[in-house]
Amino acid sequence: MVFTSHMSLALAEARAAAARGEVPVGAVLLDATGAVLASAGNRTRELHDPTAHAELLVIRDACAALGTERLTGCALYVTLEPCAMCAAAIAAARIARLYYGAADPKSGGVAHGARVFAHPQAHHVPEIYDGIDAARAGALLTSFFRDRREA
Ligand SMILES: [Zn+2]
Repeated sequence: MVFTSHMSLALAEARAAAARGEVPVGAVLLDATGAVLASAGNRTRELHDPTAHAELLVIRDACAALGTERLTGCALYVTLEPCAMCAAAIAAARIARLYYGAADPKSGGVAHGARVFAHPQAHHVPEIYDGIDAARAGALLTSFFRDRREA
């Protein structure tokens, strides 16, 4: 099943992020044919950059690789509901389809909070598929934050 394999790669990036001490969120960007353009996990601590979310890293990598600021026809898989910052970037990049795993009531900006794509200012709204492999994505986050509290 295609959905599962792409989310599996995003989950692998999330696990790698956790191993680096980063919040375990992973993302994968695919072109219109389904080929992987970029994959990444959060690197905010490593890069000293509060904008180094997995989604922004793959958008930057894919745009650089393609030499464009638009990712028309592309699909983004991410293990957690994007925050408002990333949702705005997804709109700006004109990404066609967004697949995400766990809901994020605390910091999400798609189904929660700012609800960027439901806002009248959203100039592009992707097709959105939520809950993809949500249990595994959520369990990664839960265990990461539990381990940090116990450390
Ligand atoms: Zn974000």
